[in-house]
Amino acid sequence: MRIRKKRVVVIGAGIAGLATARALLADGHEVEVYEAAPELRATGGSVTLWPGATGILRELGVDPAARGSRLSAMESYTTRGRRLFTVDLADIERRLGRPSVHIVRRDLVELLAEGVPITYGAEVAAVDPDRAEATLADGRTIGGDVLVGADGRRSVVRGALWEQDPARLSGWVTWQGFVSEPDSGVIRMATGRQGLFSLAPAGGDRLLWWFDTRAAPGSRLWEDEPDPVAALRERFGSWRAGPLQWLWPQLGDAQFFPHYRHAVPEVWGRGAVTLAGDSAHTMPPALAQGANQGIEDAWALRGSLEDLRAYERGRAKVVRRPAVLAGFEMTSRPQPPMPSALVTGLFARLLRAFSGYLLTTPEQRRILGNVPESRI
Ligand SMILES: Cc1cc2nc3c(=O)[nH]c(=O)nc-3n(C[C@H](O)[C@H](O)[C@H](O)COP(=O)(O)OP(=O)(O)OC[C@H]3O[C@@H](n4cnc5c(N)ncnc54)[C@H](O)[C@@H]3O)c2cc1C
Repeated sequence: MRIRKKRVVVIGAGIAGLATARALLADGHEVEVYEAAPELRATGGSVTLWPGATGILRELGVDPAARGSRLSAMESYTTRGRRLFTVDLADIERRLGRPSVHIVRRDLVELLAEGVPITYGAEVAAVDPDRAEATLADGRTIGGDVLVGADGRRSVVRGALWEQDPARLSGWVTWQGFVSEPDSGVIRMATGRQGLFSLAPAGGDRLLWWFDTRAAPGSRLWEDEPDPVAALRERFGSWRAGPLQWLWPQLGDAQFFPHYRHAVPEVWGRGAVTLAGDSAHTMPPALAQGANQGIEDAWALRGSLEDLRAYERGRAKVVRRPAVLAGFEMTSRPQPPMPSALVTGLFARLLRAFSGYLLTTPEQRRILGNVPESRI
């Protein structure tokens, strides 16, 4: 397939922006990423990447398992520590051909940034969608044949395209942090009326702990809570799930993340301007899909750079599935016991339905390069 080389400007060096840049550089396009921060943003905890995203990353020459934890299982417990079911992620890896990996966000961003030209300290202040041009805070103007807004939930690019429809709070928040623990390859989670408690190995001896719970702005467990661990202990202290007992005394610095969601429109760009990642489809982390969908955007955009509306329509069709489900905060609510083989099968089907990449066969990908999701 012959590719017409384009000059592409990407706004934002997060997971979506960097994956997009790598995907387009791989096809020989001229790409520059403009990032507001003075250096690669290393904040955030760790993320789970499912087989669709790890498959795309492999095609982009990135191996998240080199730094993260290759997952073998995800176990669900009651608040009293009774196991409800196990999702066999090793079996899903066999079925879908690629692993699930949990990785520290900073590690993933560093891997993605290798070889990508990035201009730091370049905050986009305004965008002219009709000219595919952006004005930086220092007055400089940048532009290209295509401009991709990968500037996250509070996207300036999205604001210039739509003005209305900002991301809304879902009513749930995450408090999280890291402790040291040898890598088990197993995510464990307990759910109850108060919310969700979970542990995920993130590679090396880093173990992410987190609580998802309800909190309204200004309430206890909202952002400026002076002692979040004490507040979490008040709310979750009655839980008897095993790991919580040894974990309480170890919990130190806690990071706060409110959950947001966007309504995902059928088309989210105009002219030569489009969006990728959270700027287009922020969703609560309940299904661990936000970063995965940003990586899926990168792969789909690579196949549809000549037709940005086809890219958006194809992506909207797929990304609405996790966005709608995650909006209900489903996995943060008490879960019923289920046979593990059944849950594993259902989860594999969900992961496939959430991934335009997995919905195409390796043969289709080989013959056509990338298959635009509008053809799926
Ligand atoms: C608690 C929590 C847990 C999560 N867990 C998972 C998970 O397990 N799996 C998963 O797939 N997803 C997960 N997510 C979601 C995931 O973290 C996000 O979807 C993903 O990081 C979004 O990446 P992005 O590149 O679209 O946006 P961002 O990470 O927000 O990056 C945007 C970049 O643009 C830059 N920028 C912003 N404005 C401008 C501007 N005006 N000019 C220039 N640059 C600008 C920013 O500095 C930033 O570097 C989780 C989210 C949360 C909150």
